[in-house]
Amino acid sequence: MSAPRKILVIFGTRPEAIKLFPVVAALREVGGLDVRTCITAQHRGLLDQVLAIAGLQPDIDLDLMEPGQSLDRLTARLLTGLGEVMDAEKPDRVIVQGDTATAMVGALAAYYRKVPVGHVEAGLRSGDIWQPWPEEVNRRIVAPIADQHFAPTETAAQALLRENIDPATVHVTGNTVIDALHWTHSRIAADPSMAAGLDDIAARFAGKRLILVTTHRRENFGGGMEGIARALGRIADRPDTAILFPMHPNPNVAVAMDAILGQRDNIARIEPLDYPHFIRALEMAEIVLSDSGGVQEEAPALGKPVLVMRETTERPEGVVAGTAKLIGTDADRIVSEIFTLLDDSSAYSAMARAHNPFGDGHASARIARIVADER
Ligand code: UDP
Repeated sequence: MSAPRKILVIFGTRPEAIKLFPVVAALREVGGLDVRTCITAQHRGLLDQVLAIAGLQPDIDLDLMEPGQSLDRLTARLLTGLGEVMDAEKPDRVIVQGDTATAMVGALAAYYRKVPVGHVEAGLRSGDIWQPWPEEVNRRIVAPIADQHFAPTETAAQALLRENIDPATVHVTGNTVIDALHWTHSRIAADPSMAAGLDDIAARFAGKRLILVTTHRRENFGGGMEGIARALGRIADRPDTAILFPMHPNPNVAVAMDAILGQRDNIARIEPLDYPHFIRALEMAEIVLSDSGGVQEEAPALGKPVLVMRETTERPEGVVAGTAKLIGTDADRIVSEIFTLLDDSSAYSAMARAHNPFGDGHASARIARIVADER
């Protein structure tokens, strides 16, 4: 009997871990594969939070994060580090996810060794190489290399076909973030203590209308972040609102918030939440204000209006479904969009409908079946 095919799954940041832990579980469940995981730890703390919750022990940890590391240096270290891992592991297939430097370089290192690549969350395109930067180009670079494209939606699949990707290699699977959301949701339902760290905030803000805020995009550092900080201050002037703001550890976020926003009674600026706590925060919130990619996918699944602080999105499905709206980072615009949702119940209910444009929670099983059935 021949040895099982070796599949090397590579990831480095929080969103990749959230979107790949269900895939790793499904690949292990499908049987007949030797599934190995390599983390680059491009982000350290946020990644480890997800690994702990998912019970995932990586086989290889490159531990490449350095504070303030340039994209050049990160890319170079990823390429040599991942190349060495591939030379030692000799995988039959590499799997990468999304649009990070880890995904782009993981695909490139595999290509240099003629190892086939599967791309989870393939085909998202904003059409603008500067937004999201540098993720739009990272994701595009994986496309001509991969020979298995796991597109979350039909829109993403169509984008790949327009780039002359062989249709036989494009599979519409749904987004694995919905698998992660369902899994975590049922874990919290069985054991609410998994998200009990928010009990104090729930008590402190009881009776207030809660707005959940996240921001971390590079394009928003500087002027954008200042606009966001000014808007949050004006929203917090309303005594009926409260803001829950788990802050990304990137120092650019805290600098702007400290300078402009300061401390306010009805704003809780807290450490990044682990995934179960973040899901609970989404459920507690009346409105979500975010520039995150993953949050644009989770909020519609939970029927929460999400105002997206970007000019473009590579995830138009939430906007088309009416649960997400692109509003940029101008302070006046943010304030007026939030106040409309707070004060106009028909505007609110038009956005607050649960949709699943991003998947049905079974994407990982589909991906694992395709990988396992490969001859
Ligand atoms: N998230 C989390 N804790 C937080 C903020 C976000 O677990 O405090 C999760 C969120 O649910 C989503 C993912 O992190 O699944 C999004 O990651 P991020 O915003 O860092 O990256 P992006 O999705 O924009 O690439």
